[in-house]
Amino acid sequence: MFTLAAADRSMIDTVIDFAQRMVKDRLVTGTSGNISCLLQSGSHIAITPTGVPYHELTVDKMSVVHLSGDHCRGLFPSSETPMHLGIYQGRKDVQAVVHTHSMYATTFAVLGEPIPALHYMIAALGGNEIPVTSHYAQYGTLELAQSAVSAMGDVFSGVLLRNHGAITVGTSVAKAYQHAILVEEMAELYYRTRCIGDPKLLTNQQMHDVFDGFKTYGKQNEKVGSLLLVTLQ
Ligand SMILES: [Zn+2]
Repeated sequence: MFTLAAADRSMIDTVIDFAQRMVKDRLVTGTSGNISCLLQSGSHIAITPTGVPYHELTVDKMSVVHLSGDHCRGLFPSSETPMHLGIYQGRKDVQAVVHTHSMYATTFAVLGEPIPALHYMIAALGGNEIPVTSHYAQYGTLELAQSAVSAMGDVFSGVLLRNHGAITVGTSVAKAYQHAILVEEMAELYYRTRCIGDPKLLTNQQMHDVFDGFKTYGKQNEKVGSLLLVTLQ
């Protein structure tokens, strides 16, 4: 049986923590959705098991699966394991994957509409929109895995799965989860603005400027000095 390193156990604890938060944050109900992370070996993932309520999860119940698809440890893995594996195989920058059925994101997934550049934070998800998969595919199938991987491409950190939900990735479990919250926030904002009007979208140039700004966004600057580049009149 696969032996977990201490660092793996700690990472799996984090996955369990965020899996339980998914219910509290209303990103999923019951046992739907799933979370995984890449283990230290780089060749195995830990993923939430199928059909187990998140509040009952323990490190030993969590499933460990080789990137080739072999189940090595713990309970039987989530039905969406092929989708997670496909993403890890295609994207070497991904350390964690979060799949939800959050309400507003799923609303647009049902409409088959991407979330456009209605707010600068869309850029934090890698592009000028949150894309939607090209077609519906049944849960747990390789077809769904392939359509998710294809919509995700090389850059996106969040996509909508037609008539199903959303999937996000990150360089850590916390980042992937933050992206899941952001996808839902952007979808809710789009829904709300469309309810009362015609949302004015950011232009490609404006989004380009946001991407430039994100290179230093949130980073502390050691220098002190004026924060205004020009004198305000
Ligand atoms: Zn699902």
